[in-house]
Amino acid sequence: MKKQEIKLTTLHSGSDKLSPHRLIMKSRSEYREVPLLGRVPPASSEAVRQQMKGNRGSDTRPEIALRSALQKAGLRGYRLRWKNAPGSPDIAYVGRRVAIFVHGCFWHSCPHCQIARPRTNSEYWARKFIRNKERDERKVRELNAARWKVLELWECQIKANVESCVTKIREALIASTSHLS
Ligand SMILES: [Zn+2]
Repeated sequence: MKKQEIKLTTLHSGSDKLSPHRLIMKSRSEYREVPLLGRVPPASSEAVRQQMKGNRGSDTRPEIALRSALQKAGLRGYRLRWKNAPGSPDIAYVGRRVAIFVHGCFWHSCPHCQIARPRTNSEYWARKFIRNKERDERKVRELNAARWKVLELWECQIKANVESCVTKIREALIASTSHLS
């Protein structure tokens, strides 16, 4: 038993945020079932793999599509991941205080589409999705508190109808102009 404990501690040192004490309490098989936050387990199916690829980090496909539609519509002058606004929104019209987030349906638990969920490592994923959602909600709260108007646009909405997303943004900008003047 002693031998296994040492092995586990060594295995995880520096690769996660749990204390060695808690790691020791987990059996080896449990650990395999429940990888800790911070590393992403491989996709359990092709559908999940596609979802994971769909939208991660910055300059994602939906975000690029939206930005190009905004350019075409003449709604230029936005900043990308502007650090002076709470939560560094993906797209920010700073003067109008309009912030836009482009959410990947998989990573941010889209309420509009039926997402293929990973079947393995379900506890890992449940925690990960809850954390992402909490982070998104906190950003919106902080922006609202700083009197920003926030739009959350989903990957699937952009894919289905980028023009209606542009319209929403245009309306928010117009509303904000009349509010500021
Ligand atoms: Zn969606």
